[in-house]
Amino acid sequence: MEQSSGVLLGTVDAASAHTQVHDGAVYLHQGRSYVVNHLDVEQAAAFVRREDPLHTTHPQSASTLRIRQIDREVQWSGGVQLCFGTVDVTDQVTGYQMRDVFTQAVLAQHPLDLPPRTLTTKAVWWVIPRERTDAAEIPGEELPGALHAAEHAAISMLPLLATCDRWDIGGLSAALHEDTGEPTIFVYDGAPGGAGFAERGADDADAWLRATADMIGECGCESGCPACVVSPKCGNGNEPLSKPQAVRLLELLKP
Ligand SMILES: [Zn+2]
Ligand SMILES: [Zn+2]
Repeated sequence: MEQSSGVLLGTVDAASAHTQVHDGAVYLHQGRSYVVNHLDVEQAAAFVRREDPLHTTHPQSASTLRIRQIDREVQWSGGVQLCFGTVDVTDQVTGYQMRDVFTQAVLAQHPLDLPPRTLTTKAVWWVIPRERTDAAEIPGEELPGALHAAEHAAISMLPLLATCDRWDIGGLSAALHEDTGEPTIFVYDGAPGGAGFAERGADDADAWLRATADMIGECGCESGCPACVVSPKCGNGNEPLSKPQAVRLLELLKP
């Protein structure tokens, strides 16, 4: 709502309100830009003012994922497991960066005090025994970056298999996930209850990962770029990412 006039400009779905219309967010609506004065979480209302700032805003979030139910579990080679099932993803938007419109340089960083939100949805995931990543000589300190880069690349390739947009899908990776006890990569549907994209990925997981590995391998950049492993929607500011180790990691993921 435009605060000065009380005019309702539009609606934002609840799932993206915390990332798109938090306090201070620059919000584009029908080609015009607005700055959010205040997001009232209880009233589900964001009050904005018309402004053309010389910065953009980028939310930062912290996520955790817990496995609720495993519907499908397939043994891949080398002890790797491909799973599909129901997960709870809890996201908390913790702050945002202000970046220069032209140079994208970070101008400022602001904390936000927003409540966590939990999404129960469907996910596909790979559990990779740590002994396998050690045997492949992926250094322990680069393992989080390898998993994270592979997760981003897999998300960007899923739209080739399932008719979806990368914004419909989320991901999370951990070098030691609390439910699996091993390095794990999750890719989940962004809609509550799931939308069939993760399942489609699970159905065709081998082709999906081969396409992902080829795409990274063929990208001419040195350490990752938006065409391969850098994601515009990463809540961790694309840190850490290791493109070379992601290629090695994906070689371990075969039926
Ligand atoms: Zn690249
Ligand atoms: Zn990320």
